[in-house]
Amino acid sequence: MLKGTQALRFDDDCLVIGTESAFAATWLEERLAATISRAIERIAGEPVSVRFEVIADSDGLPADTTRSQQSEQIDHQSQPVERSQTQVDSPFGSLPLNPRFTFDEFVSGPSNELAHAAATRVATAPGSVYNPLYLYAGVGLGKTHLLQAIGNELKSRGMHLIYVSSERFTNDYIRSIQDGTTEQFRAFYRGADALLVDDIQFIAGKSQTQEGFFHTFNELHMGAKQVVVTGDEPARQSLLEERIQSRLEGGLVVDIQPPDYEMRTAILREKSKGLQTELPEDVLDVVASRPTSNVRELEGSLNRIIAYAHMTGAPVTVEVARKALGNLLTTRQEAPMTPSAVINAVSEHFGTNPETIKGRRRTKEVSLARHVAMYLLRETSSLSSPQVGLALGGRDHSTVLYAQRKMEQLIETDPEMKSVIATIRQRLANQPR
Ligand code: ADP
Ligand code: MG
Repeated sequence: MLKGTQALRFDDDCLVIGTESAFAATWLEERLAATISRAIERIAGEPVSVRFEVIADSDGLPADTTRSQQSEQIDHQSQPVERSQTQVDSPFGSLPLNPRFTFDEFVSGPSNELAHAAATRVATAPGSVYNPLYLYAGVGLGKTHLLQAIGNELKSRGMHLIYVSSERFTNDYIRSIQDGTTEQFRAFYRGADALLVDDIQFIAGKSQTQEGFFHTFNELHMGAKQVVVTGDEPARQSLLEERIQSRLEGGLVVDIQPPDYEMRTAILREKSKGLQTELPEDVLDVVASRPTSNVRELEGSLNRIIAYAHMTGAPVTVEVARKALGNLLTTRQEAPMTPSAVINAVSEHFGTNPETIKGRRRTKEVSLARHVAMYLLRETSSLSSPQVGLALGGRDHSTVLYAQRKMEQLIETDPEMKSVIATIRQRLANQPR
């Protein structure tokens, strides 16, 4: 991106870029709008128009910082307060670790025992046995938990580690190129005893960042520094550059599978220990019997039951649990949703039809429906992002990834969107399959 500019948000499919002055906005609009939109289109796989806007706030921060996840732009606002004390002088930053993500709080069992064993080993002997360690799994299965458990362990032994999401890595790297501080960038990353990178899949398609990652990786690896990376797919199946795939495969690769019934029970028992309200075994059993493959969802069910019990003032019994979980309990099936079921439910909700969603129309309403469909397809089916693109009329995988990230942000920040998603999920759950 250009110096002094920043991506502010997507208005429908128009990328709004903030500039420091009206003069700059006009200048860029006249000379560079077409070039930039072509560049973004290449990355996003869809036509994207560009508009410039003067950033008016006195502190220079835009009011709305929804950002494109696809272009390799930097994001000046991302988590500026999260740098730890020791790193205040560095423009680059390790993200803080969640103290809850420890080995002690991680339940191991058949579905994750290899991953757990590998992570423990790496935490006790970093840089020696399994380097790099690449952990992959679907969402909510404990990748971040294990990665941070390694971090927490190393940190407690006084080691200097850098923990980053792949977005943070991207921002740091691109910023260093723009600011001419690549040497500092190298020094910062090279100075780590261990580098932990979460969700590497998001650097796919970003060639500069992959270049940066490749060299950072090599420097650390040659210095026998531990590198641990998580991702959502086996490296070979990912959309990462070949040379990165082969680096990730050069160490130990382990996956995490969804927990079976016994493990779900064990996880729930562990999670319920930390809660104020004691949950009887038969209630835990109700939750564990729910066909879900995702630990995050298990935790969600637990919280839901407790919230329900608090609201009604009733003791937590099997009946209360059933009520709290409602038809989530009875109608959910383990089988993944078919793409057409999801697309139908979304089009019904938005009062449009599946053909329109798959088509090329780009009105605000249709684009939103399409993004919701992409998000739900990724969440509820076992489709990869290229497959989701295919199901939606042959769109590029990066468009799907972008939509997914954008929706994740929206759901976090916009309660209305959260409820739209919940309603469609409900519709899907009640639908015969
Ligand atoms: P991922 O990064 O794979 O999407 P997370 O690591 O964020 O998933 O895990 C989602 C939630 O589930 C977290 O709160 C985490 O603590 C919990 N969790 C996942 N697996 C386990 C496990 N085996 N034992 C205890 N908690 C787990
Ligand atoms: Mg994660």
